[in-house]
Parts: sequence; C-alpha cells; structure tokens
Amino acid sequence: MIFNDDWHIHSEHSCDGACMRMEDLVTGAADKGIMDYGITDHIHTQYNFPDIINSRKAYEVNRKPGFHFGVEVSCVSRWEIDKVAAGAGGKLTYGIREGGPAGGELAIAIDEDYIDARGIEYVVAGTHWSMYAGHRAEDLVRDYHRQNMFLSQHRLVDIVAHPWWYYGPCEDGWTTDFGMIPESMHDEFARSCIENNKLVEINLAAMLLAKNYSDKFKREYMEYLVFLKEAGVRFSIGSDCHNEFYNLDMQKASDMLGSAGFEESDFHSPVPRVL
Ligand SMILES: [Zn+2]
Ligand SMILES: [Zn+2]
Repeated sequence: MIFNDDWHIHSEHSCDGACMRMEDLVTGAADKGIMDYGITDHIHTQYNFPDIINSRKAYEVNRKPGFHFGVEVSCVSRWEIDKVAAGAGGKLTYGIREGGPAGGELAIAIDEDYIDARGIEYVVAGTHWSMYAGHRAEDLVRDYHRQNMFLSQHRLVDIVAHPWWYYGPCEDGWTTDFGMIPESMHDEFARSCIENNKLVEINLAAMLLAKNYSDKFKREYMEYLVFLKEAGVRFSIGSDCHNEFYNLDMQKASDMLGSAGFEESDFHSPVPRVL
C-alpha cells in the first residue's frame, strides 16, 4: 500500500516547533509520490491568526495543482475565545490553559467569514488538552470524548484529527491501557462521524510512528482504528509532519496499517471548499 495523499502537514509558520519551508514541502511531497496534500498550520485561538496570514502568503508563492490550503484548529473553550477577544494579555500561543470552567462551552476559533477571508479549503480539528478537567484519568477520558464529539458535530470541521492523542505524562491513563476507554464512547464517536460526514484522521507522526508511545499502546490503538473501520467510519491520512523536511517513514506506517487490514480504498480526501 502506498499513500498518495496527506491532509495534515505543518510549516515553519505553525506556532509550535514545526520548521519546514513551504518550498521544501512541495519538493518533498513530489519525491514521496504524494499527489494531493495540504498545509494545516495551527489555530488555537485568535492569537495565532497572524501565523495563518504568513502560512497563506507562503502557500500562494508555492501553490500548484494538488497542493491545498487548510488549517488545524484546536478544540478550545468559549471562555478563552472571549477573553482573547477582550484583549487578554501575555503570551497566549496555546490559548489560556488554566482557570477556565470545567465542562464549559467548547469552541473553535474560526467561523465561516474567517474561512472565506483566508481561502481555507478544509478544516482539520483536534483535541489537544484537557479542558480544565484536571488530571484524573477517568475525568480526562470523559473530557477528551466530549471534545471529540463536539468536533465530530461541528459544521465547519472536515477531519477529526488524531482521536485520543495525548501529550504529557498520563500514568494510569489510556496511553498505558487503552481499554480503560468505554467501548460505548468509540461507538458514539463512530456513529457521529458517519452521521455528520466527517473523516477521522489516521495520524502518522503523532500516533503510529510516535516514539513516546509503547508498542502495546500502538497495538491497542490499531485495534481501535479497526473497530472504527468496521463501524463504517471513513478515514484520511495525516502525516502531521513537523520536521524540517518532508521525510517521515511513510512506508513503516503503511505497513502497520496494511497488516491491520487497511487498504488504499479506506482512505479519503476532504472535499475542498470551492473558493
Ligand atoms: Zn494536532
Ligand atoms: Zn498537527
């Protein structure tokens, strides 16, 4: 199995450690035989909007057939969106990660007008952190599920990124025992993605190839992906490349998916908005 598309890639204009120049992406994708792909730099809150202006400028210079312009938005809270809009100060690269209401209203930072203004063809959306729910594993599971469900129901989202990605120490959490997540949550998420016509991302760098996860977790995660597939979920491939060059071990990821029974026909493209 060979991947020929990739819908989740970061450039040097992303607010995190990503450092690839857009021209190196175009060259690297061609070298790897990737025909359709998109840049998706991060938007957590409005604080990151200047990055997207720069991302779009670099995209314009390097634009070519098959190369698309997207964004990766985070699930955040209405509370922090309102605070940033009201002029909250300080370095808010990752939004306001403390002090908000647990169980409060969820949000993404962009609306239809923003999508039109920036020429965004598709939206990848991910759960990246606990929404003020503390650090107890059971609370985190409920909180992440709530966020994934929110994204799967959001009318502006095309792809739900890396479900159950977790950054940071989570002893006794699902990265140690994925079975702690009730199957009913997987069921509910799968049904919602199907009903709302969302693609679920199979993420290479941050999940399948990630060095911080154990082999046990990766096996369990693969079983989860198979569960979603059997439930009828449609997937997209996202390398989530943050590297200086487009050089991930795509073959290794492809072999992992192949051994789990995935085929090229399981992977789909978002339908880019007509601009
Ligand atoms: Zn992400
Ligand atoms: Zn990403």
